[in-house]
Amino acid sequence: MPELLNLPASALDAYRGAVLSIGRQHPLVEEELEGQLQPLHYPASRHDRAEFLAEHGETIKIAVATAGSGVDAMMLDRLPHLEAVMNFGVGYDAHDVEGLRERNIPLSNTPDVLNECVADTALGLYLDTMRRFSAADRFVRSGKWQEGPFPFSTRAHHRRVGILGLGRIGFDIARRFEALSSEIHYWSRRAKDTPGYTYHATPRELAENVDVLVVAIVGGPETVGLVDAEILSALGERGVVVNIARGSVIDDEALIAALQNRTITAAGLDVFVDEPNVDDRYLELSNTVLYPHVGSATRETREDMARLTLENVRSWVTSQTLVTPV
Ligand code: NAP
Repeated sequence: MPELLNLPASALDAYRGAVLSIGRQHPLVEEELEGQLQPLHYPASRHDRAEFLAEHGETIKIAVATAGSGVDAMMLDRLPHLEAVMNFGVGYDAHDVEGLRERNIPLSNTPDVLNECVADTALGLYLDTMRRFSAADRFVRSGKWQEGPFPFSTRAHHRRVGILGLGRIGFDIARRFEALSSEIHYWSRRAKDTPGYTYHATPRELAENVDVLVVAIVGGPETVGLVDAEILSALGERGVVVNIARGSVIDDEALIAALQNRTITAAGLDVFVDEPNVDDRYLELSNTVLYPHVGSATRETREDMARLTLENVRSWVTSQTLVTPV
């Protein structure tokens, strides 16, 4: 495969050894960065980070971060010559976004290329909560079928579906639910030009009018705990929550209580607050479907994300612009 970065000598001179690689990179990103820019690797252990930054902080000009990792406030303080940050993934809430903005340090992400895979995940989680595919799979494997049939599941089509955050991914989720003859409702900060979809002025009003609440909104400080006890109560006992956005958007205490007390029916979750740790109470519940934050993680989409990350690196080191700035 030809080199994707394929950098001119001037860029190599300026940026070789001045790239900080944060987290475990996609193999394509890793190979290209290693081959051409010889990045420094941010220590996995917290204990080693201050020393690392004291030694190398002055030399770093760009940072490339994998999903779930980011440039935080402590790092920003110690990276005085940081010019730009490339984020592998759409969600960039792991970065100190405010701090980057204050210093005019641009940030890129990898939008659009993952929309459909994440939307497939949302639909899959929903179908699994209703038709109980993974529970039925465990039932067959455990030999319980010989003792009697699997319990009835719940009809998944012709439901009222509410998308919390009708952005790029939210829109593709809505399109998939149309195929299930669903009514599509949504809340966003502003109504959109989406004929046939019903806009609601608040998240609460959305929850009151749907059976399924699909969370597709950004993570970060502005949306922490948005799906709280009040929203879950408005959703009601037939309600299902699907979250492919960020764990932080959901108030875990409220969701766990609602699932335990069956004041909602079920939840399908791809994202959690303290990944890879999952609150034990979610594991103990039979009305949850849990997925290890792999919404976009198909080989094809991850490769597309890797290519887009590298395009942003290339664009910055050759022309100080980003292809997909946030
Ligand atoms: P997007 O197109 O930017 O859409 C983001 C949505 O969040 C929009 O509906 C937007 O509202 C809303 N929003 C943005 N800032 C907000 C704020 N301050 N307050 C309230 N709402 C706000 O992003 P996307 O590409 O669809 O991605 C959405 C999220 O999905 C990402 O941020 C990421 O965390 C998550 N994600 C998860 C996975 C996974 O593997 N599970 C993969 C990719 C992304 P408006 O509609 O009002 O503009």
